[in-house]
Amino acid sequence: MAFESLSDRLQATMKKIRGRGKVSEADVKQMTREIRLALLEADVNFKVVKSFVKRVQDRAVGQEVLKSLTPGQQVIKVVQEELTELMGGEQTKLNLALKPPTVLLFVGLQGAGKTTSAAKLANYIRKAHNKKPLMIAADIYRPAAIKQLQTLGGQLNIPVFSLGDQVNPVEIVRQGMEQAKSEHHDLVLIDTAGRLHIDEGLMDELEQIKAVSNPDEVFLVVDAMTGQDAVNVATAFNERLDLTGVIMTKLDGDTRGGAALSIRSVTGTPIKFVGMGEKMDALEPFHPDRMASRILGMGDVLSLIEKAQANIDEEKARDMQQKLLSVSFTLDDFLDQIGQIRNMGPLEDLLAMMPGANKFKGMKNMQIDEKKIGQTEAIIRSMTAQEKTEPDMINASRKKRIALGSGTSVADVNRLLKQFKDMKKMMKQFMGKTKGKKRNPFNL
Ligand code: GDP
Repeated sequence: MAFESLSDRLQATMKKIRGRGKVSEADVKQMTREIRLALLEADVNFKVVKSFVKRVQDRAVGQEVLKSLTPGQQVIKVVQEELTELMGGEQTKLNLALKPPTVLLFVGLQGAGKTTSAAKLANYIRKAHNKKPLMIAADIYRPAAIKQLQTLGGQLNIPVFSLGDQVNPVEIVRQGMEQAKSEHHDLVLIDTAGRLHIDEGLMDELEQIKAVSNPDEVFLVVDAMTGQDAVNVATAFNERLDLTGVIMTKLDGDTRGGAALSIRSVTGTPIKFVGMGEKMDALEPFHPDRMASRILGMGDVLSLIEKAQANIDEEKARDMQQKLLSVSFTLDDFLDQIGQIRNMGPLEDLLAMMPGANKFKGMKNMQIDEKKIGQTEAIIRSMTAQEKTEPDMINASRKKRIALGSGTSVADVNRLLKQFKDMKKMMKQFMGKTKGKKRNPFNL
């Protein structure tokens, strides 16, 4: 999980100070020393660390904390606010052109995720702002880049403008822009070539592409795993191209956090979107405050709710509720529910958004076993329609057949059936207790 070690260390530090009724200057010194080490270990740029620690220290021993009734909590608030500030403060919105088309230019090193992010963002903006996108394939150097963009375009049903790999990229972009205008596309996304290192020829070419396309956003795509090296790359690109935003990819991996925490502070360029996976919907707007809360283990309930809203069909949810109440909930419904939750992404990531999520870690029976869920799905899928609605009919030979069909054992099938039975029993009790009476069903 991203930022795991940083998050663990900061949370351990915060825990020591949380409940304090009195915070001395020595306490603050000790805390900031620990924060400093945690940030350096996460590969955050040392200048950024230095000024961050100083700001926290100044504020934490200042009047606002000393005078408060809960100084321990107040110190944590200071750290949270400063972390948010470090990552850019307010969320920075996408810059859409007043006069269409909106043009987005993607630049960055090879393998950073430009092609993938261009397609993801085309898809995202089309949905969020109801736009008609055109993607321009101007990376003629990486052999598979054009094909890759065309494949993604095909999947998403978004057209791709290409002149192959024998035409100069500046000319490709010029003609692509003309096509966008003549076909009334109001969103243009330009995928450019990367190199392994910063290179003069590449910068010249990008400057020319920028001049012919006049972009509303120049996005630097950065791999979060590169740590604070990303800062050097960002500085070099920024000097030549005046970046307007950063898209940070691979935040679903186990990045230590260096790039995400350093880039804004050093280059002044805000992170606008983050890539959370290889799938086309794995792109999210970046919210510095939510990320800071997540790192400090305060959870990110807002993102969780947004994810649920985007992935759970409201009508289906209502329907499900009805079924639960009437106790006509079948194994098919159960399967459906698992599917909807899985659409929201890996369970581990969802858990990470819950306040105090780090407390779950290490608790054996709370561990989320993705394989088990896959097994549950396989078992239910191996049942006949009748078996799903009347699980009582599943006798020994049926159990054997289901186990064989789902690649599990009879014991696994038994466990699932028992779980389902228990769940229904609980619902029945719940219904019985609430019927007619206004009683708290859980006797709380
Ligand atoms: P480009 O050379 O900059 O165009 O990079 P690509 O778009 O081809 O991406 C390089 C690799 O990174 C591909 O295998 C992508 O699937 C992968 N990738 C891009 N963004 C993400 C992300 O947010 N998460 C993960 N896990 N992989 C990503």
